[in-house]
Amino acid sequence: MDILVINCGSSSLKYQLINTDTEVVLASGICDRIGINGGQFTYKPQGGEKSIQNIEMKDHEVAIKIVLEALTNPKTGIINSLSEIKAIGHRIVHGGEHFTHSAIITDEVISHIEECADLAPLHNPAHLLGIRACQALMPSTPMVAVFDTAFHQTMPPKAFIYGLPYEYYEKYKVRRYGFHGTSHSYVSKRTAEFLKIPLENSKIITCHLGNGSSICAVENGKSIDTSMGLTPLEGLVMGTRSGDIDPAVIDYIAQKENLSTKEIMNILNKKSGVLGISGLSSDFRDLLAADEQGDLKARFAREVFAYRVAKYIGSYTAALTGVDAIAFCAGVGENAKFIRGKIVSHLQFLGITLDEKANLATIGVEGIISTPDSKVRVCVIPTNEELMIARDTKTLVSKIK
Ligand code: ADP
Repeated sequence: MDILVINCGSSSLKYQLINTDTEVVLASGICDRIGINGGQFTYKPQGGEKSIQNIEMKDHEVAIKIVLEALTNPKTGIINSLSEIKAIGHRIVHGGEHFTHSAIITDEVISHIEECADLAPLHNPAHLLGIRACQALMPSTPMVAVFDTAFHQTMPPKAFIYGLPYEYYEKYKVRRYGFHGTSHSYVSKRTAEFLKIPLENSKIITCHLGNGSSICAVENGKSIDTSMGLTPLEGLVMGTRSGDIDPAVIDYIAQKENLSTKEIMNILNKKSGVLGISGLSSDFRDLLAADEQGDLKARFAREVFAYRVAKYIGSYTAALTGVDAIAFCAGVGENAKFIRGKIVSHLQFLGITLDEKANLATIGVEGIISTPDSKVRVCVIPTNEELMIARDTKTLVSKIK
């Protein structure tokens, strides 16, 4: 079954056409700068050349039209007609408490996604634009919503409640939701398969380390705790996000710098993390290059990042009362061997030993990076959120009569 996976942002749209029988990506690409001057459309068919075209895209409907035309183009396309696309899977960032699993998109599901827009104002409205555009262009194709928050809905209340007056949870649903759920779900399952351990009897810590980063404690295949919270700002030190700070910092800086809460939130989201510490870049490749040139702040930012990850792994080992495996994924986790080395060097107290050679050799591929006698196995498992979305979409649309 061919399934179109769409990840819609406010001005961008990433897509993949996946054959779910073979799990092969038939085509993929990005529509960039939707609704802004200088639009760019990238298209890469399976086995073909990647092409980049400058095309203005006034809205998401125009962008999706361009994607569908490229997929069915007689010369460079990959399918003969749109009827070959049996379903569309949409990545949705926030599903609140309502969605514990993926869902077939109906009017009711759309209104629940709208209700959660308050909690993810940058993401959910953009996803809705993508859904509506697909509805307009392919009205009879079933669509499925796959939520970043759904995997974490198995967290027990003691893990998701904040130490705040309980009425804020009752009135406004202020609680930990967690994000990157599709990635943590995929990587934890794949880790168990890869290491040949039974998922239903396992304790796995998954570390999704990218621009945005989060960690998840997965017990018997279920999320029991995760580092992001009400929003994706909590937890690890990230590319541009602060992660955990003393909440009193907000008022303190507001007074000192004469800033509004909104301005401070912008700093915490966009000007903090390793960018803020290094004063240089949010990109770990830039930080590595600068560190190698002797930039001490770049080195410090990388150390702070690794230290926070190691502390979370320690605390999630306590949450799980033990750990069988630790898995690294996403841009930094899959590629940044020195960062992984630094993290693992903090974990020797757990009987974990790094296989230096394997760590250096495992870049962007699956592999074990701990020594055979390490008490806990540490591995790299490249994430694949699109495949997970395609799988969920297939499962749900197969149930439609
Ligand atoms: P997101 O999906 O959150 O935007 P990614 O998972 O693509 O992010 O991760 C992006 C991060 O991964 C960037 O900071 C980038 O520098 C880092 N990264 C990618 N490749 C490498 C590499 N070879 N070495 C070190 N860091 C890398």
